[in-house]
Amino acid sequence: MSQFADDVLQENLASVRQRVEQAAVKSGRQACDVRLIGVTKYIDAQATRQLVQAGCHCLGESRPQVLWEKGEKLQDLDVEWHMIGPLQRNKIRKTLLFTHYLHSCDSLKLLHAIDAVAAETQRQVKCLLQVNISGEAAKQGFRPEEVAPALPVIREMRSVQLVGLMGMGSLAGDLDTRRHEFRQLRQLLEACQGSVGDNLQLTELSMGMSSDFEVAIEEGATMVRVGSVLFDRLR
Ligand SMILES: *Cc1c(COP(=O)(O)O)cnc(C)c1O
Repeated sequence: MSQFADDVLQENLASVRQRVEQAAVKSGRQACDVRLIGVTKYIDAQATRQLVQAGCHCLGESRPQVLWEKGEKLQDLDVEWHMIGPLQRNKIRKTLLFTHYLHSCDSLKLLHAIDAVAAETQRQVKCLLQVNISGEAAKQGFRPEEVAPALPVIREMRSVQLVGLMGMGSLAGDLDTRRHEFRQLRQLLEACQGSVGDNLQLTELSMGMSSDFEVAIEEGATMVRVGSVLFDRLR
């Protein structure tokens, strides 16, 4: 997909924002408490530009090379980039040039490598730990019970700024199953907040996609990663 009808794109975005707001209100919060991350892995750089111009300034990409390409092509726009897919260690350096949040930190090994690369440029990188909440074998991430033991190690890293947790509901599961998984991730975050002390601000919960973002928000998501519903009826 490379060119959209602007009015349909704007309608889709408005409709998703409205659904985000309703779910936020249902959980006693406001729309501004939830970041809508538009996942652009389905569309090219030109269509991505249209999405930003329609008002979606937080974007997520799952492949490093695509993020680099779009990061370069959209440099003139105000975009906050979120890396949401697997990151190989040899791609860290370039990815850090463009990325504001790394959601897919799935091992301590990767975090150590990120810390080392970021330290060279003396910058802090906002990272979320990806947690395998569905228990599906194919999903990457920390097992829930591995998260608490990892925190003291991460706290020693000088350039990794851990800001929260990320998870995906089970693809095979129904909405009740996913709600349960999202709730467990929130409870895990709360348990971590209680145990890390003041110098780690764990505030972000990245969970919810097109098919379940409202349930995720009701369970406390602060970031939702939404792709396909934004691009319905377009082309
Ligand atoms: C593709 C993707 C999304 C968005 O999924 P949709 O169902 O298209 O909304 C969210 N998170 C991750 C990690 C993804 O890879």
